[in-house]
Amino acid sequence: MRKTQNREDIINIFKKNPGKFFSAKEIYEKLQDLDLATVYRNLSLFKNEGLIKEHKINTEKESFYEFSSNNSHHHVVCEACSEVIHVDLPKSVLKNIKGIGHFKNGSISVTISGVCDK
Ligand SMILES: [Zn+2]
Ligand SMILES: [Zn+2]
Repeated sequence: MRKTQNREDIINIFKKNPGKFFSAKEIYEKLQDLDLATVYRNLSLFKNEGLIKEHKINTEKESFYEFSSNNSHHHVVCEACSEVIHVDLPKSVLKNIKGIGHFKNGSISVTISGVCDK
């Protein structure tokens, strides 16, 4: 019973914050009664089920997770403060990347890094 409740609690964080993303630690901080290992375990389950997507900004920073949605989108990441924004790229842009032709359209995810003006 408790197991299902954990699952629901984590999924609800994503549902209540559409378009937002969280690291495992942030989820852990919101759900005080779960331990971090449980959060990680559930997140990897959800990822395997396709409910959420995991994004790695770079190897030093924590992954963040977001709810899978039908519209595939891409990310721009600030190297200084780790701010992440979600952006759309026109399909024609992706198609014109040389050699990308045999990748399925929805499966391509682009992460652009830069430094923001903050
Ligand atoms: Zn920044
Ligand atoms: Zn996103």
